[in-house]
Amino acid sequence: GGWMPTDIEIARAATLQPIAAIADKAGIPPVALNPYGKFIAKVDTHAIPDFDARPEGKLILVTAINPTPAGEGKTTTTVGLGDGLTRIGKSCMIALREPSLGPCFGMKGGAAGGGYAQVVPMEQINLHFTGDFHAITSAHNLLAAMIDNHVYWGNGLGLDTRTISWRRVMDMNDRALRSVVSSLGGAGNGFPREDGFDITVASEIMAIFCLAKDLDDLEARLGRIVIGRTRDKRQVTAADLKATGAMSVLLRDALMPNLVQTLEGTPAFVHGGPFANIAHGCNSVIATRSAMKLADYVVTEAGFGADLGAEKFFDIKCRKAGLKPAAAVIVATVRALKMHGGAAKEALGQQDLVALEAGLSNLTRHVINVRKFGVPPIVAINNFTSDTAAEHELIRNYCRNHLGVEAVICRHWAEGGAGAEELARKVVALAEGGEADFEPLYPDAMTLWNKLETVAREIYGAAGLAADNKVRERFAELEAAGYGDLPVCVAKTPYSFSADASLRGAPSGHIVSVRELRLSAGAGFVVAICGDVMTMPGLPREPAAERIHIDAHGQIEGLF
Ligand code: ADP
Ligand code: MG
Repeated sequence: GGWMPTDIEIARAATLQPIAAIADKAGIPPVALNPYGKFIAKVDTHAIPDFDARPEGKLILVTAINPTPAGEGKTTTTVGLGDGLTRIGKSCMIALREPSLGPCFGMKGGAAGGGYAQVVPMEQINLHFTGDFHAITSAHNLLAAMIDNHVYWGNGLGLDTRTISWRRVMDMNDRALRSVVSSLGGAGNGFPREDGFDITVASEIMAIFCLAKDLDDLEARLGRIVIGRTRDKRQVTAADLKATGAMSVLLRDALMPNLVQTLEGTPAFVHGGPFANIAHGCNSVIATRSAMKLADYVVTEAGFGADLGAEKFFDIKCRKAGLKPAAAVIVATVRALKMHGGAAKEALGQQDLVALEAGLSNLTRHVINVRKFGVPPIVAINNFTSDTAAEHELIRNYCRNHLGVEAVICRHWAEGGAGAEELARKVVALAEGGEADFEPLYPDAMTLWNKLETVAREIYGAAGLAADNKVRERFAELEAAGYGDLPVCVAKTPYSFSADASLRGAPSGHIVSVRELRLSAGAGFVVAICGDVMTMPGLPREPAAERIHIDAHGQIEGLF
């Protein structure tokens, strides 16, 4: 390996094509294009003739082993595979999440891929973009304002203000706002109550936005949002507050998917970005579906490792949207596998076949898990310059001989799409092989408890669930209120199959403790909190913001 420029240097050096040219590659006519500057456009698919009747291309999920500080590269691989497919002559689109603004100023690290496998223009994609997050923030806070306003003007619905669960949101990492008291300052400012802010990506509106099929479905889902209860324990919804019309108005334009390009000119939708813990962690259904009508192959990413990301992609997104993935790419790196096998972070640069072999236990379980959904897997080894040939050989042989799965070494980070051509060919063969027979892990008609237990046993290798009486009562309460047929969305640490972040590899026989259930009735799932969840991040001691500035040429410096 030689010297590599930084992600932002590579992105900046690229010559971008006008967005109309990218749209043309995807067969999007100019009439359907709403340009936001030269290189970004929202796409109004209603303006494309016979769009809904079109056949759909094959859907490829990119997921990964459990993340480690060593880094895996799902987004990078999603982009690299897309460019690889384009290079071997396939019609292909990519569908990714929109990055949140807050984390850009915290830790270093982009959300638009890396090396020579990125979506561009990366500065805009990472900052403000087309304003979708602003729209979602506004819709969320409109509902919050209408709740307090309703109480202020007499509380006709009899809302018990102590039960209001609808907080406020902002797209910034700001721990100071996690817990606040609102309406201080006297009678004219309403009734003081405990309140707080979450980051916008944690808003239920974000999850709704990403699961809605269309504008009507969006409005119906908004109406089902439960914001609190009356004193006689009736649920109060956004529809009760007559908020959904105005919220839909704020979200209308944002709901159109955003078209951008990869460094090699593959068309990409970057649209919606919900948390992968208290929500399902993938881009909008509208973007995925639209891409499938525009291309033969659509490559998309789910957040975190396959235990959280792929499981939710399958059990929440695919189940609800009727999507049937044709294949799943499980990304692993030699470095991360060695960490799963017990190697220290400082030692990852050295060959260590013993740790590598031990760490393959993590990959093994993910391969077995993905097959439980009827989706055929393939392993992508995202090559780092410190990898050795012996390490690659060990992974390839193990995967072939013990798992019956191909492991392909990929070099898209260093070489762009050319480095992912072999992966692209093998993904096509897998997707065309007729092997896929997608099915969610559990049926709708199973109790919430049993759904959660099924995920814990089948995916996490756990022995079972534990919950105290209060939580068990909440299960019963949600079943009785008619939410029993929703899927469950688990919030737990992404770093381990267990709820203990320090347990790498493939721990089994552990007990998953359910601390709390939260209803996301509009999004259409019940969140099971099985660990600490942070819905408003803070900034680190030395935030990236301290190094970000505009240089003498007007260019942004320090952003990744
Ligand atoms: P994920 O989507 O899994 O969170 P990303 O694709 O965003 O991971 O990659 C995280 C970071 O790792 C990015 O900054 C990217 O540039 C870097 N990265 C990815 N692949 C490689 C690689 N093969 N070699 C070196 N750095 C890489
Ligand atoms: Mg990613």
